Amino acid sequence: MIPFSPPRIDDKVINEVIAALKSGWITTGPRTKQFEKDITSYTGCKTTIAVNSWTMGMQVLLHWWGIGEGDEVIIPAYTYCASANVIFHSGATPVMVDVNEEDFNLNVEKVRAAITPRTKAIMAVDIGGLPADYDELLTLINEEQIKAQFSPKNEKQEKLGRILLLSDSAHSFGAKYNGKRSGALADISSFSFHAVKNLTTAEGGALCFNLPEKFNHEDIYKEFNTKILHGQNKDALAKTQKGNWKYDVIEPGFKCNMTDIQAAIGLIELGRYQENLDRRKEIFDQYYNAFSKESWANNPLYETENKTSSYHLYLLRINGATEEQRDAIMQEVFNVDVSVNVHFQPLPRLTAYKNLGYKMEDYPEAYASFANEISLPVYYDLTDEQVKMVVEAVKNAVSVVMKG
Ligand SMILES: *Cc1c(COP(=O)(O)O)cnc(C)c1O
Repeated sequence: MIPFSPPRIDDKVINEVIAALKSGWITTGPRTKQFEKDITSYTGCKTTIAVNSWTMGMQVLLHWWGIGEGDEVIIPAYTYCASANVIFHSGATPVMVDVNEEDFNLNVEKVRAAITPRTKAIMAVDIGGLPADYDELLTLINEEQIKAQFSPKNEKQEKLGRILLLSDSAHSFGAKYNGKRSGALADISSFSFHAVKNLTTAEGGALCFNLPEKFNHEDIYKEFNTKILHGQNKDALAKTQKGNWKYDVIEPGFKCNMTDIQAAIGLIELGRYQENLDRRKEIFDQYYNAFSKESWANNPLYETENKTSSYHLYLLRINGATEEQRDAIMQEVFNVDVSVNVHFQPLPRLTAYKNLGYKMEDYPEAYASFANEISLPVYYDLTDEQVKMVVEAVKNAVSVVMKG
């Protein structure tokens, strides 16, 4: 069986985890701090906070920005449920918009149409690893008329003076847009280091801050260290210093810090990330070359004039296939022991959001992109031989299903 995206766990990773365990420091400590610094320098953002998941990072962030009841946050209809769920839990309303036909990402003109005086943030999602149109979105939210209808609710929002641009960068670690890396493309980006992501810490995430210069990022870093540890003004490391036992709780905080065991995995992963990206690109190129000969194949965009993907997901679309035919093709592929997947079922199709009144027919492009999409295996250890097996399996499945 060719798995879909197993993590790369070799002796290097195992030995670093053992070293973390043997060090006696297993919660947030020196490895986490190093990992944060390394992410800041890799991405080019201004400061990084490591957390235990994308989801909790974004949840705390929305709370910090003061997003809540009566507010709206714009997200694409085509994304993972986490993007919407954190907004629901904040008390605000996710306003879903449709995506581009060519790249699965948020459509800027549809974002424009969805902006109201209640819009506090836009959360773009870099589906498959290709960055969304951040510069276009920034230009949009800086337009005089759009800024004029923005109504800040607190000091931070007032200071920014416009809609906040967030990035769901769960897929795009290492991706580039106009010469900058993911993590430095929006005001604030959130990464996921879940086991299936390009860079993993088993579970984990990071918030990368890149707000305008008038925000003090050193203060933000300090504030978040407190926020993700129950509002305690001293972390466990600081409390180990002699006699330094006494702490205060300065606000009711959250609990979502990263552990040094997780960071140990992340440090190894980040140290060799370029070879991971290089191998992923080779696999993408091999799929691209194989499928561009087929009239039924619609290959994903992964390199454009100003964007380079992180090669996270190979989102192949089968021209002319209905949802039922796509499902049948996937079954044929599974029958020869190749794992494939679908990213994503648009949110309005899922019971939770349907029950809240979101309707699939309002997002025709998201539905069309989903209906004939199949995600193919991409990971460092996937061999050229296995890539060929995947290609053959998909070609055969398409010819069986689409002929009939
Ligand atoms: C994986 C993923 C998330 C959630 O990440 P966690 O670290 O599991 O919380 C959010 N958004 C997208 C697009 C994802 O793929």
